[in-house]
Amino acid sequence: MPRSKKQAFTVGWLYPDLMNIYGDRGNILTLLKRAEWRGFEAKLIELGRGTTQQMEEVDVFFFGGGQDREQALVYADLLEFKQPPLEQAVRNGAGVLAVCGGYQLLGHYYQTADGELFPGIAMIDVKTEAGKRRFIGDVVVDANIDTLNPKTLVGFENHSGRTFLGPKARPLGKTRLGSGNNGSDGMEGCLQGTVLGTYMHGSLLPKNPHLADYLIRSALIRRGVDELSPLDDSVELAAHERILQRAQHAQSR
Ligand code: GLN
Repeated sequence: MPRSKKQAFTVGWLYPDLMNIYGDRGNILTLLKRAEWRGFEAKLIELGRGTTQQMEEVDVFFFGGGQDREQALVYADLLEFKQPPLEQAVRNGAGVLAVCGGYQLLGHYYQTADGELFPGIAMIDVKTEAGKRRFIGDVVVDANIDTLNPKTLVGFENHSGRTFLGPKARPLGKTRLGSGNNGSDGMEGCLQGTVLGTYMHGSLLPKNPHLADYLIRSALIRRGVDELSPLDDSVELAAHERILQRAQHAQSR
């Protein structure tokens, strides 16, 4: 629990006006609420194009999804304005949750199905090339994060990008249901240092409260907070379980 004076927990939302599809905003609400319910002063900094205000204060950055059009509108700003302070913040222990389009732009590049190439900032060792077919549907992942309980993550994917990991990155987990990173290697997402990339929209965190706490806890270690008080996650985990059951039913047909 934070000391008597309310300790801050700050979320930095990258491109909220453009990179925010399939309910991704729910991730912001989940991170802020779960910190607030534990007595932190939860703060949100919106980081649209052209601004880098207070990025040094951010504990967890969120970079949501976007269609090719929105990615084309943000990638130049990401490289010109956001990259240096974002890299500095991550070096100082800040975390990043990047979903789909945001995930792709944190890698080396994203190439659309039409061959248009958007350079990324190479914060994570991944590259993405889009195919003609879109991957759309429920996703269930057996996560590669030992401390997670439950071990599963559930979400929804809608992407044409095929993402392949280089040696510096490791998969977030194995796909039990869905296409994951590329529909061929059976893996989903990426973990590299304090950066977590994934194709799971949904939005992701409301149905995966254990992952939300993993992100909050990881970012607050540098502020001397090594444990979070437990919350009643019965509703969230019931939603999580419902998707697991739906996935099992889909696979048994
Ligand atoms: N435009 C990218 C793709 O189709 C990302 C889509 C998304 O963010 N859902 O792969």
